[in-house]
Amino acid sequence: MCTGCSVNLFQLFEIVSDEKKVRDYLFDHHLLTKTVNCTSCGSVIELNSKYQFRCNKVVRLKHGKAYRKRVCKFRVTGLKDTFFERSKISLKDILYLMYLFIDNRTTIKTASFETKLSPATIIDWYSFMRDIIINYCETKSSKLGGPGTVVEVDEAEFGQRKCDKAEVRGNWVLGGIERGGKKIFLVTVGDRSEETLIEVIKDWILEGTTIVSDRQSSFRNISLEGYFHQTGDNPQNSKDSESSTNTNNIKRLWRDVRNEIPKFGVREEHFESYLAKVFFRKIFPDQGERFHHFMLATAALYPPYK
Ligand SMILES: [Zn+2]
Ligand SMILES: [Zn+2]
Repeated sequence: MCTGCSVNLFQLFEIVSDEKKVRDYLFDHHLLTKTVNCTSCGSVIELNSKYQFRCNKVVRLKHGKAYRKRVCKFRVTGLKDTFFERSKISLKDILYLMYLFIDNRTTIKTASFETKLSPATIIDWYSFMRDIIINYCETKSSKLGGPGTVVEVDEAEFGQRKCDKAEVRGNWVLGGIERGGKKIFLVTVGDRSEETLIEVIKDWILEGTTIVSDRQSSFRNISLEGYFHQTGDNPQNSKDSESSTNTNNIKRLWRDVRNEIPKFGVREEHFESYLAKVFFRKIFPDQGERFHHFMLATAALYPPYK
């Protein structure tokens, strides 16, 4: 089983050019099971090239005083419960689409040109992949900070647009980033009341953390909740010391979110997945390594038949 790999595009082409290598790669990342035990006769069956487990063992059955030979007919599809169940496209195409999805630099049009799949098919598969990322964020996120650490927090609005002369409100996001670590959180908030924001802070940041924010306003009572607080609008705070009150890290995170959100056609229902993707890219900045973790995240949501 793979404990860590970093596949680049060239290496991926080598894998997808050979059906056996695709299977081995999927076995290694728990997306497919290589062998199962026959529930009928107990023998070990290996997944065949048609992605089925077929037991053909000849078993001897006692029949009166004589023995009769019988071929075990146990059958089960190896794709049951996997990400590939009911897929109408090849596994190598899906693997390649997964790479493009996580790489984020290829447009749907280019992906369609390269795979010969229709844009509608690709959009469908990307939406399944979105669920994987969202599930990962929901299950793998942990609280930030703790005594002696600094977490920058800020709120920003995304996805607002003009629609028939009317302004459509976007989504307000409260984000936090731990200095010197990879930990972040990004949460959409329905309103920006002090109460709401403090609830999110308490959900995501450990007590004893120094919270740095741009403005005093929303977080002025945060110290009552067991946090230390510094703001950029307090001139007494030095700009370049360890306790620097700039919020450059969170501003960079906002830039990543803006890049993730499509310029046109922002889909309200996809908003959570835009944030999830930013989260995933932030914790796995290397594309090859990210692909490995995306495979494991897929296996976690779609554990194969065993
Ligand atoms: Zn790996
Ligand atoms: Zn059998």
